[in-house]
Amino acid sequence: MKAHAEETEPVAETAAPASPSLGVPVTQQAQILALQRSAGNRAVTRLLAREPTKVTKWIKEETTGAENVTWTAAFDVSFDEDVSTPTCWLTIKVKLNPDEGVTKEDVNTTKVRVLSRFNLLWDSKFVLHEHRSILSDRDWLLRPGIEFVDKGQHVTVNLHKGKGADNRQNWYLESPEYTYAHEISHQMGLLDEYANDSVPNRKVYDDHSIMGDYYTEGMTQATAKLRHGERLASIIGAATDKALTARSA
Ligand SMILES: [Zn+2]
Repeated sequence: MKAHAEETEPVAETAAPASPSLGVPVTQQAQILALQRSAGNRAVTRLLAREPTKVTKWIKEETTGAENVTWTAAFDVSFDEDVSTPTCWLTIKVKLNPDEGVTKEDVNTTKVRVLSRFNLLWDSKFVLHEHRSILSDRDWLLRPGIEFVDKGQHVTVNLHKGKGADNRQNWYLESPEYTYAHEISHQMGLLDEYANDSVPNRKVYDDHSIMGDYYTEGMTQATAKLRHGERLASIIGAATDKALTARSA
């Protein structure tokens, strides 16, 4: 359950949005970006709004051991306002890396288990409220999802046979799908919430959190909590320059 320590270069607390790839000729793209830089033009911002922004955040938990637990949360977000329910799509691109002996069917079964549990826990559970100073405020339905890819992934997950201690980058075929969903939730920047002696400063909750000790509390009662939605609002808001708060959908 514990997030796996990862050797990664520390990145800025909130990285700037990746430069958008507009799918237009370079000169035109340069013109648009120059426009945006010089004027902070809202119309241009809106033009770019549907291009995904890669969100990254360096996450650290202090431990009593020699090394802290650190990882880089990463995912894409895009805001779609031209729909009846304006939507914030959050996409985590996952590449599965099966061990030898893990069959294609195992991989496919795992994908289905991960997708279904993750969606049940996260899809359309929270609304992001965007405060704007000149234009009126607006709401975005938050729709986190997973996309399995062969390249361009935000995280690579090694898939192992049998049972074992899962973490963000290592899953075992016999683990409950709640655990896969827990581990992927770390990829969105969420922290563990179960008691651990080696992490004395951790905020512990026993309210059936998917980040908590759901093994003890009853796995099927585990849910995503409003505090998780609020943390996502904060991380996404910082990366996309929006003033976001969260509420239950
Ligand atoms: Zn964990």
